[in-house]
Amino acid sequence: MCNFHGCMGLKKASGRAFAALLLEWHHSVNQRKMPWKGVKDPYRVWLSEVILQQTRVEQGLAYYERFIETYPTIHELALAPDDEVFKLWEGLGYYSRCRNLLKTARYITYELKGAFPSTYPSILALNGIGPYTAAAIASFAFDLPFAVVDGNVIRVLSRYFGIEEAVDLPETRKRMSILAQDLIDQKQPAAYNQAIMDFGATVCKPRQPLCATCPFKRTCVALKNNRVEQLPFKSKKLVRTQRFFHYIIFEFQRNVYVRKRTDKDIWQGLFEFFLLEADQLLTTEAILASNEVKQIAGKGSTLVHESMNMKQQLTHQEIIGKFIHIRLASPAKGLEHLTAVDLSAVRKLAFPKFIVSFMHEKL
Ligand code: SF4
Repeated sequence: MCNFHGCMGLKKASGRAFAALLLEWHHSVNQRKMPWKGVKDPYRVWLSEVILQQTRVEQGLAYYERFIETYPTIHELALAPDDEVFKLWEGLGYYSRCRNLLKTARYITYELKGAFPSTYPSILALNGIGPYTAAAIASFAFDLPFAVVDGNVIRVLSRYFGIEEAVDLPETRKRMSILAQDLIDQKQPAAYNQAIMDFGATVCKPRQPLCATCPFKRTCVALKNNRVEQLPFKSKKLVRTQRFFHYIIFEFQRNVYVRKRTDKDIWQGLFEFFLLEADQLLTTEAILASNEVKQIAGKGSTLVHESMNMKQQLTHQEIIGKFIHIRLASPAKGLEHLTAVDLSAVRKLAFPKFIVSFMHEKL
């Protein structure tokens, strides 16, 4: 079995053989098509990579096309109002990506006079761009030999070299980055990076990898040692914090009350309705009986709708909650920190997915 430290002294010949076989697979077998493949415009490469972080390709495709159609250049993105861009991002989650996208587009447009940085360190220095995205932009747009290291690459390398060390530990990640950098084909960095990403996504998949037809089946350590299912190895199990969100949609004369989330928390910059967060899931009766709701919903208010309990999993949190729609009999008191918006205009605002899925059905 591969001793990972030993891999660091990887014999040049075996590293070259890995890269050569991977490139051969890429040029003769790989059929994966994506609209940004082969694109050299750093703006488009960057946009596609940012959209694809934490997002499935099938979902990301439509967003990429909509963004390129609406903002064909970085300059047009930089000029767009925040709320408009957030609306276009709605449903993709991880909104800090969208905030950073705007910040960086404006920085490049105004501070760098529209010239996208073209060296690895200067790309990496941009807001919201980590080593993975910097390597992708450097190699795809500028043909620089920097290896991408994402979940796909880690899976392929862990299995092929039989790396038994926990890949969620920073030391292991660091060593894997060095190994990946050792392996990259210096003359074809873009093709090599594309090849290993596509190979991880289509052949050496997380579940049911295609080992029987894999070009590495004779040399893959995990396959030889029957460890494919167990690798990559992770030391920690992800623990999600549960949060309980009860949203109350107060309506008066076809206006509903919303506010923008501004705190350093999930969904920053997105809109929401009146929120009652509790440390457990509350019944509708308990919500209506709470002081917060009683103070706002005076006499004559009616309960229009109560939703089923809903759930959404984020990376580190699980949101559980429900929606209650209350029609007020008189102008709202106690909602001064919220803004009244006409029901017909509320859909134009950007809400988190948790709220959007409710609105599609009921508002
Ligand atoms: S043989 Fe299986 S585990 Fe090994 S690289 Fe190929 S697909 Fe991955």
